[in-house]
Amino acid sequence: MNLITRAEWHAKKPTSAYVRLASTEGVKIHYTGGKVPADLADPGNHDRCVDLVQDIQRMHMSGGRGEKYIDVGYNMVCCPHRRTFVGRGPHALPAANGAGLNSGHYAVLALVGSSGLTEPNDDLLNALVDAIEYLREHGDAGREVKGHRDGYDTSCPGDPLYRWIRDGAERP
Ligand SMILES: [Zn+2]
Ligand SMILES: [Zn+2]
Repeated sequence: MNLITRAEWHAKKPTSAYVRLASTEGVKIHYTGGKVPADLADPGNHDRCVDLVQDIQRMHMSGGRGEKYIDVGYNMVCCPHRRTFVGRGPHALPAANGAGLNSGHYAVLALVGSSGLTEPNDDLLNALVDAIEYLREHGDAGREVKGHRDGYDTSCPGDPLYRWIRDGAERP
């Protein structure tokens, strides 16, 4: 897999220690919910994925989701160039699934949105499977792969990704 470490994407340090998770039932998949540039998946545009992940971390840590998070809310972030960014990483409680739902599943963000780039390409789907396998191997994630909307009132992760999850979240 093409793992991008926190040092490589110039992540800010978390403002306090993560709550440790020994294991989870599995993984929940998310999308950004906003507009993602329609041409983000173009081969030359990966630098913009890095910018986007930095923006999301900044937004989460500055209180854009209502409270200031100690770090980006996701454990991993996947982009349409088959790269997987380390967010909080394995064995850390995420802050993306909704209150009371974070200890059950790791949170993985796919860089697609509700407008612009809305359809995951094959590289993004492969990166998501890479992230799921990584969290199983390094974070004792269980077999479940679900969407944010499972158990929480949200459109996340969007219909195209949710269809893929319901179809078994397999490599294309
Ligand atoms: Zn979500
Ligand atoms: Zn990318």
